[in-house]
Amino acid sequence: MQFARDVSLRRLNTLALDGRASLMATVTDAEDLDAALEIASAEGRKVIVLGEGSNVVIAGDLDAVVLKQASRGIEVLERDAESVSLRVQAGENWHRFVQWTLEQGYYGLQNLALIPGTVGAAPVQNIGAYGVELGAFLRRVHAVRLRDGQRLTLSRAACELGYRDSIFKGAQRDTLCITAVDLELGLHPETNTRYPVLDNFLREAGIDTPTPGQVFDAVVSIRRSRLPDPASEPNAGSFFKNPVLTADAADHLRNRFPSLPLYPQEDGSIKLPAAWLIEYCGWKGWRGEGVGVHAEHALVLLNCGGGTGGELLSLARKIAESVRDTFGLDLVIEPRVYGHER
Ligand code: FAD
Ligand code: NAP
Repeated sequence: MQFARDVSLRRLNTLALDGRASLMATVTDAEDLDAALEIASAEGRKVIVLGEGSNVVIAGDLDAVVLKQASRGIEVLERDAESVSLRVQAGENWHRFVQWTLEQGYYGLQNLALIPGTVGAAPVQNIGAYGVELGAFLRRVHAVRLRDGQRLTLSRAACELGYRDSIFKGAQRDTLCITAVDLELGLHPETNTRYPVLDNFLREAGIDTPTPGQVFDAVVSIRRSRLPDPASEPNAGSFFKNPVLTADAADHLRNRFPSLPLYPQEDGSIKLPAAWLIEYCGWKGWRGEGVGVHAEHALVLLNCGGGTGGELLSLARKIAESVRDTFGLDLVIEPRVYGHER
């Protein structure tokens, strides 16, 4: 286990926000994890689990043991004519894992290419993109309870997956360290290209029946051309979740705002693009001293250099306030916020 005191978190989150952790433990196996939990217990400190820091806002210093999951390894559990079951250690990088699955001829995850972060964080918000969510492939989550080191296995149902949501953001928020994830992937090269941006991209490339590899390449190209790279423009991806309304409530809003896009969901509810609401309120491209809103992508808040978590959250509150005043809708912040605002 790598262990250090009073560590700056600036390089450990994609928003490049500063904040110091009292203790930082990088764990690669069960023994490391037990040792880190013992230290936390002996010092009476809270434990916060961190992956690659691509969905967190560091608002200030963390009087806690920050536990960085760095366990590696992929194991084939079972295979039949139709599918393969894999156990993937939490510290594996998500995108490299997706790439590996396609190289093996294991299909399903191609729409989720290039999502930053670790495999262990993927169930936390049931990662999703281009019409596909992790939940379609998730079978079990293995975890350790932070309070007492107890080993647990959660079935897919027990994870209570939702739209960018799960039990790990709800009742089990900050109580577990996910150590491994079991997934079931297909062996037949089926694809899902119903998401309009993806469908258009493939059509324009003259590809009518794409292979999973072609879908992976298309998603990587689209993402590279549309989404800011945190390495040059520090961000945490979408800062707010898209609101989901009843059909009646959405109709009512559409009457007031005829150009508002509506995305009907399978369960009859209607999803609204938060980016559109924010842009309508005039925030797209807004720049303050240290923080701002991306000029091409209103859902992405930026640390423009030297911004603090407090400044970023203050901007987020102002944006949410104007969306509430204009549309009567409450935007919910997607990343998790840690530390007290300075
Ligand atoms: P972190 O940011 O380190 O942690 C996020 C949360 O998960 C924290 O609450 C943390 O405590 C918890 N956590 C992390 N690891 C564990 C663990 N092992 N056990 C228990 N809890 C844990 N998300 C999408 O869904 N779809 C996208 O398309 C997408 N695109 C993005 C694009 C960009 C440019 C960026 C910056 C982010 C994007 N995100 C997207 C958000 C982010 O990539 C995902 O939420 C990702 O799963 C976070 O992984 P991470 O390892 O960085 O987690
Ligand atoms: P986009 O394609 O420009 O679409 C904008 C928004 O409209 C998305 O949030 C998307 O919802 C929604 N949308 C568009 N077409 C839809 C349809 N046919 N049915 C349902 N919803 C539709 O989005 P983008 O920002 O470039 O991102 C592309 C994909 O990557 C999206 O799936 C997005 O969620 C994902 N992404 C997520 C993050 C993150 O941090 N969470 C960051 C970057 C990209 P959905 O978001 O529900 O798909």
